[in-house]
Parts: sequence; C-alpha cells; structure tokens
Amino acid sequence: MNGRITFTMIKPGAVAKENIGPILKIINEKGFHIVAMRLTQLSTLQAQTFYAVHKERPFYNSLVQSMTSGPIVVALLEKDNAVEDYRKIIGATDPAKAEEGTIRKLFAESVEANAVHGSDSDENAIIESDFFFNHSERFYKSIK
Ligand code: ATP
Ligand code: MG
Repeated sequence: MNGRITFTMIKPGAVAKENIGPILKIINEKGFHIVAMRLTQLSTLQAQTFYAVHKERPFYNSLVQSMTSGPIVVALLEKDNAVEDYRKIIGATDPAKAEEGTIRKLFAESVEANAVHGSDSDENAIIESDFFFNHSERFYKSIK
C-alpha cells in the first residue's frame, strides 16, 4: 500500500466547532497537498452507503445520524504513502487512545464524533474519492 492519494472528511462536529482551518493547517504542515476539496452535507442515503460496511454494528444508526447532522468537508489528499501516513497523523479511532498531537487527540469529541475520516486502503481511497468528486480520476491519475 504505497499509493499517493487518500480521502478525508472533516466531520460535522469538527466543522461546527470551527476546526476546519486548524485541521487543514496540520494536514498541510505534515506534507499533504489538497488536490480537491469542498464543503457539503451528507444525505441519510449517502451516509448509509458510505458506511455500509458497518451496517451490522450497534453504532451504525447513530453514526449515520451524526454524519448527517451538519456540513462536512470532503477532500482528496496527495503525498507519498498517503493512506498510511494520514492514518498516523489522525490517530486511533477512539480519541482516548489516540497519540498526543494527532488530529483526533486534538479535535475529537468522542469515538463517534472523532473529527475526521481517513481511507484505510489505496482501493478505498479511490472508491471514496469517486463517491464525492465527479470524474475524480482527473485529480489522481497523474499521482497514483
Ligand atoms: P474512519 O473510517 O472514520 O477513518 P476508522 O477507520 O478509525 O475511522 P472504523 O472502524 O472504520 O474507524 O469506524 C468508522 C467510524 O465509525 C469511526 O470513525 C467512528 O466515527 C465510528 N465508530 C467506530 N467505532 C465506534 C464505536 N464503538 N462507537 C461509536 N462510533 C464508532
Ligand atoms: Mg474506517
């Protein structure tokens, strides 16, 4: 897994707390280029589809509700070893277990409202980018 793109969302809680700017600053400082980005809000169907892999988990309905509760930022990020390096700088899913200095340690409110999403594989980075950006291959074909 050494592709050059990953996909992130800044989740509703972090947007509501005016943490878009501080989170993007860290993303840039850690060497990621923002190659596509927009502010949007998920419909229930979009959130259910995005998190379909978790549909049997007890937190699924609550997660869908939380992810649709307000605007989010979606962005395509570029860097060497993007998926792995981004997951390092966001930290553990549960902010109580996240390392000092990670985005989730700094900005997450709970395991559910954990500030950001980061793709977990090169394949999912592409699937998730395609979910939000029309013809997203125009952003990543030269950097894959
Ligand atoms: P993400 O996919 O958002 O980058 P992740 O890969 O660290 O996070 P996953 O296991 O894929 O974690 O879970 C997806 C999302 O579901 C988490 O980011 C979090 O918002 C929510 N979630 C995961 N586990 C729990 C839980 N035990 N209780 C509540 N919400 C949870
Ligand atoms: Mg995940």
